[in-house]
Amino acid sequence: MNEDFPKNEVEFDRRFRHEQACLDYLFQLRWPEGFICPDCGHGEYWKSARALYLCRKCQKQISVTSGTIFHGAKKPLTVWFKALWWFSTRKSGVNATTLQELLGLGSYRTAWCWLQKLRTCTIFPDRKPLSGEVEADEFYLGGKSSGKRGRGADHKCKVAVAVERQGRKLGRLRMQVIDDCSSAQLLPFAKGNIVDGSRISTDGWKGYNGLEKDFVHHRVLSAQSENKESVLPGVHLVISLVKRVILGTFQGRFDSKYLQRYLDEYVFRFNRRTSKSPGKRFWRIMQQAVCSPPLTNQALRLGTT
Ligand SMILES: [Zn+2]
Repeated sequence: MNEDFPKNEVEFDRRFRHEQACLDYLFQLRWPEGFICPDCGHGEYWKSARALYLCRKCQKQISVTSGTIFHGAKKPLTVWFKALWWFSTRKSGVNATTLQELLGLGSYRTAWCWLQKLRTCTIFPDRKPLSGEVEADEFYLGGKSSGKRGRGADHKCKVAVAVERQGRKLGRLRMQVIDDCSSAQLLPFAKGNIVDGSRISTDGWKGYNGLEKDFVHHRVLSAQSENKESVLPGVHLVISLVKRVILGTFQGRFDSKYLQRYLDEYVFRFNRRTSKSPGKRFWRIMQQAVCSPPLTNQALRLGTT
């Protein structure tokens, strides 16, 4: 597909000043090879209104925003596009209070819902699993420390994390909320996010038993050691960065229902931290936005997706 995106904010502002320009952009992203009826696959249409297309074969009426996160949007697309621009191009993203101020939205609630929708667009189904040298570990967020060793402690959100090592540098990252730190949770996380045959370094935690079946498993230390930061430096650096962002944003109070979405957003930014092209990040989120099923506000609150 043609990479078509504004290169910077000046270009963005010039290009997406009017509703029609936003509609044209959505059309082009949704149907890069030309219109296709989502019901019958037919390629010919009549234009029945500004953003409405009528399939010439089955007569289905399709809005260019239906089946996208913009479905049923009450605010103009120009405002949504600006939100998506800030969300995808600002280095540390944007929080709901700031977004509300920047866009002049009526309520914090609206800004919060918009951000939740945008976060669902940060994971791409075609993303490639990690490979090569990988460090894996888990960490905990929220809850009170029970005094027990972290892996057994209750009332905390547990997160599995894996990051590529490329010499001294870090590569790409994956994070997933897990129910507990058993191998029943940790092994599927590894299988789902890392290419078979990769070399995975972990500490000696028993939950990693079994990794050697599909990977080259390297145990760095026994699970009892207090000083594992020095031996799995990559993954521990990432964990401290993530904790700082999540706890800094929510002052330690966050709803565990939404944690995966915050982690997804973090991973999106982390994996593009060296990209020089803000517009490309905008384009990638936008591509995802046009094929994400619309979320009702209720589904957003329940965190069911
Ligand atoms: Zn049709």
